[in-house]
Amino acid sequence: MSFAKEFECTLCHKTFEYSKDLMTCPHCGEKGILDITYDYELMKGTVTRSYFKSNKDYSMWRYAPLMSIEGIPKNPLKVGWTPLYPSNRLNRLIGLQKLFIKDEGMNPTQSLKDRASAVAIQKAIEANASVIACSSTGNAASSLAGNAARLGLKTYIFVPKRAPKGKLAQIMTFGSNVVKVDGDYKAAFQLSKIAINHFGWYNRNAAINPHLVEGKKTVAFEIAEQLNFEVTDWVVVSVGDGCTIASVYKGFYDLFQLNLITKIPKLLGVQAEGCAPFYQAWMTHSPIKESEESTIADSIAVGIPRNPVKALNAVNQTNGAWITASDQEILEAMAILGKTEGIFGEPAGVTGLAGLMKALESGLIHGDESVTLIVTGNGLKDTDSALKAMNEPILVKPDLKSFIEAMFNKEEEDNNE
Ligand SMILES: *Cc1c(COP(=O)(O)O)cnc(C)c1O
Ligand SMILES: [Zn+2]
Repeated sequence: MSFAKEFECTLCHKTFEYSKDLMTCPHCGEKGILDITYDYELMKGTVTRSYFKSNKDYSMWRYAPLMSIEGIPKNPLKVGWTPLYPSNRLNRLIGLQKLFIKDEGMNPTQSLKDRASAVAIQKAIEANASVIACSSTGNAASSLAGNAARLGLKTYIFVPKRAPKGKLAQIMTFGSNVVKVDGDYKAAFQLSKIAINHFGWYNRNAAINPHLVEGKKTVAFEIAEQLNFEVTDWVVVSVGDGCTIASVYKGFYDLFQLNLITKIPKLLGVQAEGCAPFYQAWMTHSPIKESEESTIADSIAVGIPRNPVKALNAVNQTNGAWITASDQEILEAMAILGKTEGIFGEPAGVTGLAGLMKALESGLIHGDESVTLIVTGNGLKDTDSALKAMNEPILVKPDLKSFIEAMFNKEEEDNNE
């Protein structure tokens, strides 16, 4: 059973009965993204600190009473309860006293998108649908494909031509019907929309489906719980469509309504310089304008963000900020995170770190403020990009002399740098 109360349109603010099972606002159409509201007073009776203490389900489903679902899937992949590491070295290197790193690359298909896909599949099962479809820059697709395969549902997935090989390999391995669209993400999204309407499939498209944010928000619940409900001053996350940052806000908002936390962290939304419609709108105080999709951080190369209202609201409500990072800075962040903490993020996965470093340099975030950095996806998904950031390993003849020579020369080179 769910404590969900109503759908509220983020554009016209009309409310609709929760029982209607809507996707978007009947008045505003596709742009009328819905937000699901909850009866927090009722929820308080169930969701308490002792509820969490006694709960042995260490996956996202431990948060089922805080979500818009009627039940939980039987024997799913294990999504959620990913590690939250206190930083060992990275914090000192970038000038922070207190930094935590949430490694979402540890989810079953190696990105935060598993949290949204898992809920989409549960909702599809509740709706008696046997086919789910989405368009995706890669991770939504691979997470849908994997989690659906585990539960025996069929998937149709529309990806843009540029999707990295690692993600494609996952989608194909999970047996999805993959449609590689000769165009960008916008084109893939458009075609998926038409096909979903035509065939009546269950729609897992980001933003359009209001339940996805309700799944992704479990990352905020986990961060709070792993910090014993003493959340950091800031939470940093990379942004494409805006669903992730909106869901991080929603999660902390829920906990705040339940008196489980005493503040909502400020949110730093980080975009790639080559595709930064949120940052530009925020800087110029103007509406979101379509942007080019020019960055190696493919997961956040979203020229027309699908969840603008919720994402802008998340940053505004928390007195947060937006910032951008160049591809070069993203690649540097990838190397720094790997070297200092042993965590391998994909480009969009480490864009948050690139932004955090700039925010510290510019004084937007101070060294004595505490920060949680969400690494949203695993580096093995896109090894081509990773190799761009790294030096070639040295090649030696298989004997000790060549090895010592090579090592010695290398050290000399390093010292000369
Ligand atoms: C999807 C994704 C994001 C951004 O999420 P949005 O909801 O599109 O803003 C960030 N990082 C990774 C790895 C992603 O897959
Ligand atoms: Zn509306």
